[in-house]
Amino acid sequence: MLFLAETFTADLVKLRAIGAYLGLAIGDALGATVEFMTPNEIRTQYREHRDIIGGGWLRLRKGQVTDDTGMSLALGESILSHGGISAHAAADAFSDWMRTKPVDIGHTVRRGISSYRRTGQPYVPESEFDAGNGACMRCLPIALASLGADSANVEAANLLQAHITHNNPISDAGTFCTIRMVQAGLLGGSKKDLKQLADALVKIHPEFAYDRKRCENPSAYIVDTLRAVFQALFATDGLEAALIDCVNRGGDSDTTGAILGMIAGALYGPTVLPARWVRRLDHNIRRQCMLQARELLRLSPLYRAKPNHHT
Ligand code: MN
Ligand code: MN
Repeated sequence: MLFLAETFTADLVKLRAIGAYLGLAIGDALGATVEFMTPNEIRTQYREHRDIIGGGWLRLRKGQVTDDTGMSLALGESILSHGGISAHAAADAFSDWMRTKPVDIGHTVRRGISSYRRTGQPYVPESEFDAGNGACMRCLPIALASLGADSANVEAANLLQAHITHNNPISDAGTFCTIRMVQAGLLGGSKKDLKQLADALVKIHPEFAYDRKRCENPSAYIVDTLRAVFQALFATDGLEAALIDCVNRGGDSDTTGAILGMIAGALYGPTVLPARWVRRLDHNIRRQCMLQARELLRLSPLYRAKPNHHT
């Protein structure tokens, strides 16, 4: 990256941030059609599922997104209106989002938000049962707003949002790894760099090992979810192939799609997003994703340190 002119570099980071946010929403919209189906059921019905067509158990409109994108946008909005990452602001935003009667909401998320409404405390106690993927699926605004911060601060920022609903060391580790992979992609890292981050996670938490059996029908357990995401990401050479591989594994496919979409979008940038997917995405969601990508990046330490960067 060093050989690039500074403003040019900033433009590239901005483009990749937009790629990550659109990738998240596209993965969510694409995957939701086959959520909770098995790979066999998907094959029988679609041969290969590769277009944003809505439907699924949630009976979505074409291009409609679910809680993965909805909670990310709520978190991002709270960061922008607060001028930084705040647990209370994020919990209020999640509570407002739940009031809109979202099309889907996870059990752990609902319980955490209800607990915040009752107690006013924006965190739940540590629980071995909170290792679902709900904190990870919405972590992108943290990755963007904390870009350029040192690792410990990025980790602390994530815990503020994660523990509102999910307080679990495995969830924390998987989510932090996802954020680091997104940030590495934003800063021009290669697929190999991202693989090193995944392998470092496996070293500390061996349950994330992804090099053995093919992970099909991944559950909402963060370990299953990320194993499917890592396998799809590292076995392919582009965003479209990775996302199609990922969602055709079925299971919690809107969420594996969302997480893979944000990582691959950061890695490959928005120009590789198939036009048929970008066009199909709900237009209002698309606009919000692009706006938040730019504005969250503008808040980040990386951009604040270099005010000459045009974002
Ligand atoms: Mn969802
Ligand atoms: Mn899901």
